[in-house]
Amino acid sequence: MSNLRIPGPTPCPPEVLEAMSWQMINHRGPQFAGYLKEVTEGLKTIFQTKNDVFLLSSSGTGGLESAVVNTLSPGDKVLGVSIGVFGERFATIAKTYGAEVVPLNFDWGKAADADAVADALKANPDVKTVLVTHNETSTGVTNDLASIAKVVKNAGKLLLVDAVSSMGSINLPVDEWGIDVCVTGSQKGWMVPPGLAMVSVSDEAWKACEQARMPRFYFDYLKAKKYGEKGQTPWTPCMSVVYGMVVAMKMMLEEGPVNIVARHEHIAEMTRRNAKELGLELFADEKYASNTVTSIRATNGLDGKLLNKIMREEYDIILGGGQQTLEGKIFRIGHLGWVEDKDIEAVFAALKVALPKAGFKGA
Ligand SMILES: *Cc1c(COP(=O)(O)O)cnc(C)c1O
Repeated sequence: MSNLRIPGPTPCPPEVLEAMSWQMINHRGPQFAGYLKEVTEGLKTIFQTKNDVFLLSSSGTGGLESAVVNTLSPGDKVLGVSIGVFGERFATIAKTYGAEVVPLNFDWGKAADADAVADALKANPDVKTVLVTHNETSTGVTNDLASIAKVVKNAGKLLLVDAVSSMGSINLPVDEWGIDVCVTGSQKGWMVPPGLAMVSVSDEAWKACEQARMPRFYFDYLKAKKYGEKGQTPWTPCMSVVYGMVVAMKMMLEEGPVNIVARHEHIAEMTRRNAKELGLELFADEKYASNTVTSIRATNGLDGKLLNKIMREEYDIILGGGQQTLEGKIFRIGHLGWVEDKDIEAVFAALKVALPKAGFKGA
């Protein structure tokens, strides 16, 4: 088995893979209703929310699209806070559906500054909604969402959050921070194959939903709510992924959300420490370095693409590359979901030998 160290899809425990092979049942029958209930209740525990939570059959991006189309109308002004590829994607979705996006971009590798968000909201009082990424997977940076959320909610705006690569791995108390729509995806911290987006919808988001006029059909929250009350989803869901979630959720609740967050923190610290000991330079502002993915600069002669090739071909260790303008400039180590110390120890044992082969001259 490869040591798959990209920030999603992540490796799945054997118990989850076994569940993925369960026989099909009636997706509108009582047994499947039981599964949906179990997963939804578990999600509410991990999201730390009393809000409605829905499962949507799509990758994470579908979840982001659902947040936009259910709460906004064409012409609405939104603040698109971006610190990387996924922040841009969220803003692009809103633009695609006719929102007027005011961009607030920060240098890649840096976190968003809550004071700058406050200033942007003051300068644009007609902004209705703020889009923000909790954990920017492309740069390995986790925003201080608590501070940003405080600013946004104090200004009385709706807050839509991309927590695709953080929820379940990094603490994100949805109700305490006042997140209106929070989106995650099954193939990141949940130890489950891709196919499910999971979203929470606050009372304020429901009010926005009643006014929202962007076109929507497949991802309509009102339909999800109506069918959810019957223990169903409006459309045939990716049932095998839901089976996987049933088992993964049991495992996660058994380990305990607090312990899971602590495990990710420990493994991320270990990753950063090992990288620095090898003379590598972290790409992310260390104060905001992510606990689910570590980004490392390709410096001192290092050919990042060659490194990933050597790691794959000689060690069967799969690392992430840089996306868009970061291609070849950084490489990334994913450490979320089903991950233990030994997985990261194996990465660094191999890096020690592979780095010089890929041109790295040390610090
Ligand atoms: C993975 C990811 C997404 C969603 O990507 P999909 O390929 O659609 O699942 C969105 N935002 C972030 C921060 C991600 O890490």
